Amino acid sequence: MIDAMTDASIASMSQAVVPPAVVGRAGSADASVGTDDVILDVRDLKTHFPVRRGVFSRVEGWVKAVDGVSFSIRRGRTLGLVGESGCGKTTVGRTILRLIEPTAGSVQFAGIDLLAQGRRQMRSLRRRIQIIFQDPVGSLNPRMTVGSIVGEALGVHKIAYGAERRRRVAELLTRCGLSPSHMGRYPHEFSGGQRQRIGIARALALNPDLIVCDEPVSALDVSIQSQILNLLRDLQREMGLSYLFIAHNLAVVEHFSDDVAVMYLGRIVEKAAAEEIYKNPKHPYTQALLAAIPEPDPSRRKALVTLKGEVPSPINPPKGCHFHPRCPLAIERCRQEVPTLIERAGCAAGHVSACHRSDEMRPSTFVEWVGNAGK
Ligand code: SF4
Repeated sequence: MIDAMTDASIASMSQAVVPPAVVGRAGSADASVGTDDVILDVRDLKTHFPVRRGVFSRVEGWVKAVDGVSFSIRRGRTLGLVGESGCGKTTVGRTILRLIEPTAGSVQFAGIDLLAQGRRQMRSLRRRIQIIFQDPVGSLNPRMTVGSIVGEALGVHKIAYGAERRRRVAELLTRCGLSPSHMGRYPHEFSGGQRQRIGIARALALNPDLIVCDEPVSALDVSIQSQILNLLRDLQREMGLSYLFIAHNLAVVEHFSDDVAVMYLGRIVEKAAAEEIYKNPKHPYTQALLAAIPEPDPSRRKALVTLKGEVPSPINPPKGCHFHPRCPLAIERCRQEVPTLIERAGCAAGHVSACHRSDEMRPSTFVEWVGNAGK
């Protein structure tokens, strides 16, 4: 019975695919991975949704889900995009794929202006940009067999039919730690981790350059998360894939990303190479996210410092710095003036943050301020 096959057994079955070692940083693990070419360049991207009310559906306001986001991803590298629920990170991923139409900005993929493409061109470009969804249950059609789900795109794009299509699906399933014998089964017969492997096999079917990973492990058990992250990292090494890896937790992207961007209420508030941002966070929000990561080693365990309050509504965001109602370091200037995302003193090149008090920030500043406020 397929139900009896757990993710652990699958992992052992696919030792060649998923090494038992702890996940390592994708970019630094293999110097030959990737070049400095930029595969994706996003500039000042805005996605605003109208708020309509009344009988005539008059536009009464705008939800600024994404409000001027810029970043780039190099070939064969990973950018981790992190923030709490409602910060706009998923909207960024879907806007890049044009599953949602942007309001303004530019998205260059391998030098092609994605926002200038018509429907047909966009459809053909989607062969090269794929997505892995957060919910491995909801993203797989329960009425389709695994073979049809993984092989569907091969038929739609007129790439392979019949025996050739089955051969390629079998290859993809094996590559993702599943068995070709799973082809005739249905999604409900698999565990959460196995379903996510099916989702990954589907994303790989068209041999893409870039994959938007939209919280691909957040619905999975912690033990299964590392297996899926290992699989994604190995695929990246072998196929030279680039990832936009969306997560709500900085711990998930720490060993997986080359660069990290932190989002709050539709904007990037800090961005740097992964090592730099964990060592030298300059924005109170980044520090708050880091302070909320539990320490697995009991001898180093510390009291968790959690951020109070919720992400405010993007319909009516706070004036000045959007983070000021929740920031223990807020001063009058923060309530009036929007901070600019710029390089700060004492930071590595390319490390930018948007905070009026970034220059005063040491890695422990947020924790100290919250601790002092509680005394
Ligand atoms: Fe806090 Fe002010 Fe910095 Fe915003 S600008 S994060 S409110 S200190």
